[in-house]
Amino acid sequence: MQRSYVGEARRRVGPKRERIRPIIERLAAAHPDAVIALRFRDELQLLVSVMLSAQTTDVTVNRVTERLFQKYRRPEDYLAVPLEELERDILPTGTFRQKAKNLRGTMRMLLEEFDGEVPTRLEQLVRLPGVGRKTANVVAAERGATQGIVVDTHVRRLSQRLGLTRHDDPVKIERDLQRLVPKQDWARFPHLLIWHGRRVCLARAPRCEICVLNDLCPSSRV
Ligand code: SF4
Repeated sequence: MQRSYVGEARRRVGPKRERIRPIIERLAAAHPDAVIALRFRDELQLLVSVMLSAQTTDVTVNRVTERLFQKYRRPEDYLAVPLEELERDILPTGTFRQKAKNLRGTMRMLLEEFDGEVPTRLEQLVRLPGVGRKTANVVAAERGATQGIVVDTHVRRLSQRLGLTRHDDPVKIERDLQRLVPKQDWARFPHLLIWHGRRVCLARAPRCEICVLNDLCPSSRV
């Protein structure tokens, strides 16, 4: 797309401040089921699921955790087995050696510094081994303690296509979105983009012709 064409497209759809509200409303109507796809029963299971979900699908994680959570119920349980056994138990999620190491480091820190509980503050969560800002944001939001906006691959792609950010770096994208999205929508906004990204605004071939945002999107092909 040429520069002048991008500028023309941006002018056509109007300023992002005016578009954000209808974008959220239309996505919420189109994807009323847009919630986290990982299955968990408590905050420890939530944390483990999100840590395991890096570089794999939620379906794979759910399949693995169905058995995992019967065997590992408390932080101590992850430290009570040999490392190789934990690696085997999470193997299908990929990068299992690193994930097993991070899980054990996290469980140790939970026990030593947080009385075995999962903290809710971002600055505490990101201190846990293997927990980055994205994981911390997901865990905090699911526990009703939203402090930021989750930026994953779908959120990044859709934010760029919708002209909500010009950045590529997740931290800068999050900052742009925080300025734009009303705070009460910080938790659900990424879910809406993720589900829209999976169903309509696909990475390789966006389905603009059926997209409810095509008159609000500077990247629309229709
Ligand atoms: S109009 Fe096309 S590019 Fe824009 S959000 Fe919809 S599917 Fe994605």
